[in-house]
Amino acid sequence: MAFNATAGSFDALYPGTDMSSLNWAEEKWVAWYVWWGNPIIATGMISFLMHEIVYFGRSIPWMIIDAIPYFRRWKLQPNKIPSPEEQWECIKQVLWAHMTVELPTARCLLTLPLDIIIWLFHPMAEVFGMKTYQVPFPSNSTMAWQIAFFMFFEDLFHWAAHRALHEAHLYKHIHKLHHKYSAPFGLAAEYAHPAEVFILGMGTLAGSLILCLFTEVHFVTFFLWVIIKLFQAIDSHSGYDFPWSLKHFLPFWAGADHHDFHHMAFTDNYATSFRWWDSIFGTDHKYHAYRARVKSAKAKAITAEDFFKAEQEINAAVLSEGLLTEAALEAKLKKN
Ligand SMILES: [Zn+2]
Ligand SMILES: [Zn+2]
Repeated sequence: MAFNATAGSFDALYPGTDMSSLNWAEEKWVAWYVWWGNPIIATGMISFLMHEIVYFGRSIPWMIIDAIPYFRRWKLQPNKIPSPEEQWECIKQVLWAHMTVELPTARCLLTLPLDIIIWLFHPMAEVFGMKTYQVPFPSNSTMAWQIAFFMFFEDLFHWAAHRALHEAHLYKHIHKLHHKYSAPFGLAAEYAHPAEVFILGMGTLAGSLILCLFTEVHFVTFFLWVIIKLFQAIDSHSGYDFPWSLKHFLPFWAGADHHDFHHMAFTDNYATSFRWWDSIFGTDHKYHAYRARVKSAKAKAITAEDFFKAEQEINAAVLSEGLLTEAALEAKLKKN
């Protein structure tokens, strides 16, 4: 890699750094920051590009799966396949939100907090002492335990904040948009009000800032964590529970069926990655009753067709009860 054109920024950011001591990823990291010459823009751009590539890149396989009837046997709400028009509508909405909230273009007061997340992340991270452009990276074991902490923190934060978003006012004005799809699909993971993206995004971010108060944290660890978080969010909205899905190997992993039920029933299962908080706080009773009904319908059904019919009836009953729950929540506001 040639540093001649940007030797000034190399000297400013990495004085005395021995490039031969760095691994491949660290070299690329240095090249990126040197090329931009401005760490704030370099951090903002890599965050924005990673978000777009991972979000849409991870959603494409789910769109292909939706188009192949073979996979319907593992669809949680098998009669609710998103149409290409619905998917396209969702892509446009999410892209519009990303462009207006993450690039400093069509900026307004509502989107300003999100600009702060992406573009002021770097200065904020530095205030908390997070390493950003610096090399070398932390060891793999340091990154692993810190990501585990971010995940634990985010899951608890999300459980509490998501539960609060189901209170009448917050639901009507913020969270209702995300519940447009009672049978979610991968692309719908970030189909949400900007205020919701901001509130729940704080759960993804805050763990890393808090940890900075106690130990050294590098932006690359946070970067890897956000990639994992995007996979988790998209997969939990996919609408498919395969025999090889992670929750069949890690029983505490929430997986798609946990969050799919939340969209169908408008209640229960507020956490993201893990099942334990909903279990501890008793916000999964309806979900377990539903799973038991589906299980007994499967045991009673003689043919696959019988089971398909019984499952449809159970799902329809859950959905209509959910719609009543949602209507009752909104009626509460009208009374007050
Ligand atoms: Zn919700
Ligand atoms: Zn959702």
